[in-house]
Amino acid sequence: MPATRDLLETPAPPTESRVTVQGDRFRRYLSADRIQERVAEMGATITRDYAHTTPILVSVLNGAFMYTADLMRAIDTDCEIDFIKLSSYGDAKVSSGEVHELKSVDADLEDRDVLIVEDIVDTGLSMEFMKGRLQEHNPASLRVATLLHKPTATEPDLTLDYVGFRIPDLFVIGYGLDYGQLARNLSDIYILDEE
Ligand code: 5GP
Repeated sequence: MPATRDLLETPAPPTESRVTVQGDRFRRYLSADRIQERVAEMGATITRDYAHTTPILVSVLNGAFMYTADLMRAIDTDCEIDFIKLSSYGDAKVSSGEVHELKSVDADLEDRDVLIVEDIVDTGLSMEFMKGRLQEHNPASLRVATLLHKPTATEPDLTLDYVGFRIPDLFVIGYGLDYGQLARNLSDIYILDEE
């Protein structure tokens, strides 16, 4: 039986402005409040754009799980969810440049309005690969909603339909994004502190 004080609402604990993960220092870059505010705006735009259809969100595991949960709740029209998983960077901070599909979608995407929900687009290689894969299912439409985008790192021809934040070409962690599988549980997003 939990003590009564455990049942009372308590304010969220203050978050650190700097964290050290795997020996590297990161500074807070986007607060949880700022993220939630932007995700709500994106959800409102997506709600408007998909008001006359039932889109299927394809969330990219593992990094996008937290963003997907928030974005989906910010979408105020019928929508479905499925998941895809690609090979990641492993424990490194720099892309290996090789992409493989580890888990494909289960749903039938033919003639569906598909919205890829991705945490971050860096070089854009993963997104290009995924768009190609999903296009093979003959969806009615295929768009992308990425929370973060590093424009200076991405090849310019890649179309990103909804972008939360454009960020510098530095490694970020938190809000689902990991560093060697750690730091996904941070509510804020932190960026590598180069100082
Ligand atoms: P891309 O293929 O665009 O270079 O990289 C895409 C994937 O690499 C993302 O889905 C994400 O898993 C990972 N990634 C790219 N940049 C970062 C970053 O700054 N931080 C973290 N944690 N992962 C990243």
